[in-house]
Amino acid sequence: MKPGDTQFYVGGVLANNRRILARTITLIESALPAHQELAKIILDQLIPRSGKAVRLGITGVPGVGKSTFIENFGLMLLKKGHRVAVLAVDPSSTLSGGSGMADKTRMEKLSVEENAFIRPSPSGGTLGGVTKKTREALLICEAAGFDVLIVETVGVGQSEIAVASMVDFFLVLMLAGAGDELQGIKKGVLEIADALAINKADGDNMDRAEKARMDYESALNLFCSSSAVWKPPVLTCSALEMTGLDKIWEMTLEHKEKMIASGELEVKRKKQAVDWMWSLVETGLKERFYRNSEVKKFSEKITHDVETGAIAPATGANRLLSLLDTH
Ligand code: GDP
Repeated sequence: MKPGDTQFYVGGVLANNRRILARTITLIESALPAHQELAKIILDQLIPRSGKAVRLGITGVPGVGKSTFIENFGLMLLKKGHRVAVLAVDPSSTLSGGSGMADKTRMEKLSVEENAFIRPSPSGGTLGGVTKKTREALLICEAAGFDVLIVETVGVGQSEIAVASMVDFFLVLMLAGAGDELQGIKKGVLEIADALAINKADGDNMDRAEKARMDYESALNLFCSSSAVWKPPVLTCSALEMTGLDKIWEMTLEHKEKMIASGELEVKRKKQAVDWMWSLVETGLKERFYRNSEVKKFSEKITHDVETGAIAPATGANRLLSLLDTH
């Protein structure tokens, strides 16, 4: 069997061959047209085998304890008999490393476990590109039989919304500050959170963490929940001392049960799939536009005409867009 064969990849992933799983993800991340063609065929075959895992998104500012949390949470889940894959969305990551989320050196104990798979963020590219690759990697890991998928992102910008749009449950890790918790609240993040956990609730920090928990709980009361069956709870935990992690897992399962029973999970996943399709259409249109030979030929001239005021920006835009119709 040649590595180019679809069956090589599909069979390898379904048999949970780690090496082939990693190579398949590398293939979908590749920008080469031939790789992309092959990746599409592989994905089409694997997607029907996905969909059964618990999909958990985790965010929080650098230093909040994400990698400590994911490592110890992951180890706890392995003990319970689960298989855990960890992926990341970090648009700042580049070939030279970036902020290095979800990399192996950060989760040393988890990464050597047979039933864990850790994949760093695809590097470079736009947020849209990174998100697309991570979403596809998630489906591939699911097809490989991982039943808990954790997608990590840093607490900056739009990447949180991107991750929330590919998971069932979005957990925001927080820190207790010195009484000024609520000032740092990012409203957008709280709106998409399915739960908040105040981390580092240990040692001298216990009381402050509990105070922060209550403050966030009242802050969350101001938002109306997007779900009829779920009101985002606020918990405390210590990723380092592994306290409160069990509770967070139980809460994730309770959320899943309720969302399935009410039909909301199905609706959510359908909406995510359709939203994803449209975002791919948008990306595809943009790519097609910039690749178009007529656009390449005339864009400089039209740009110049707009610069000099010879034509209005809207006229320029119309002329450029109409070039797509001819070719
Ligand atoms: P990340 O940047 O969000 O991935 O954070 P890390 O997991 O790298 O943690 C940042 C620092 O906080 C490290 O020194 C950790 O040991 C420490 N840390 C993480 N979780 C806890 C916790 O629950 N309690 C305490 N006391 N320290 C923690």
